[in-house]
Amino acid sequence: MRDSEASPPTSSKFSTGVVLRRTRSFYYVDLGQAEPRLCRIRGNLFQDNASEARVAVGDVVVVEPDAAEDAGWIRELQPRHSRLARRSREGLPEQTLVANAEQLLIVAALKRPEFRHGVVDRLIVAGLDGGLTPVLVLNKADLGETQETATIQKLYSDLGYTVLLTSATVPSGLNELRACLRQRTSVLAGHSGVGKSSLVKALYPDWEIRVGAVNQKRGKGRHTTTMAQMFRLPKGGYLVDTPGIRELEPLGVTRKTLDQHFVEFAPLQTQCRFASCSHRHEPDCAVQQGVAEGAISAVRYRSYVAFWESLES
Ligand code: GDP
Ligand code: ZN
Repeated sequence: MRDSEASPPTSSKFSTGVVLRRTRSFYYVDLGQAEPRLCRIRGNLFQDNASEARVAVGDVVVVEPDAAEDAGWIRELQPRHSRLARRSREGLPEQTLVANAEQLLIVAALKRPEFRHGVVDRLIVAGLDGGLTPVLVLNKADLGETQETATIQKLYSDLGYTVLLTSATVPSGLNELRACLRQRTSVLAGHSGVGKSSLVKALYPDWEIRVGAVNQKRGKGRHTTTMAQMFRLPKGGYLVDTPGIRELEPLGVTRKTLDQHFVEFAPLQTQCRFASCSHRHEPDCAVQQGVAEGAISAVRYRSYVAFWESLES
């Protein structure tokens, strides 16, 4: 047999797929078939012994199928182009929650619960920090659009973010949302009660059973409750459901780099008197001046200051 000795993992007996979800020892890999394949990792795949923690939902992996067991072995992890991580627990290294996602869908309600800039702006930073494009989904539009709705829409679209107005109950805005999801890998985030599950059900009614089934399993298995999981969309793309908003911490962000993730601050930074300006109380700060003149929104500035103060010095 030709090349049998140096058979690379890309040879025909291997398949490339995407990790849809995982438990402590199993990885459900989408190989383009109806059902994901249940895979495991060989102990010696990675150099360090934290290998199990290194393959995340969204990772592209090379799988060696095991025909006898209708299972498979993960043989290779391909490089990531984006990463949402979460802080470690019990002294473990920080963990990748979702790999390779392209956009972070930040769902917020216009009312009930009240819209909170602080939450939205924090998630925008988390998305940008991980290499994802933030998209704002303003849900519960049926509860009545207010002056504030238009202000919020304008604020974020002027910053360059896509803003979608939806209602899961009426329903409205779902075609735009579906188009935004198509052919992309999107992570769904936002506080509980804003309507994330309702939107998913309204968009993909066929999923009701599948989503429900997974949720039931989640209730049973302790370690799966904190894991993200990914669903393949009918017309291409994936939707990732994350366990909780607190998990999406922008771990790469420091007090020094935070201003880079507030896009409207960027063009002004070089005009501050001090290169290390934190834009809070320094004299001749172009950002503070921008706020005073109305070029920078006061709510965004308040989000920045609150965020800055929450970061360790
Ligand atoms: P999740 O925690 O973000 O998944 O939120 P849910 O989907 O569970 O929704 C929370 C509550 O808001 C439920 O009572 C939903 O019926 C309600 N809800 C969700 N979407 C809408 C909407 O577009 N309009 C209104 N009026 N209520 C909604
Ligand atoms: Zn400044």
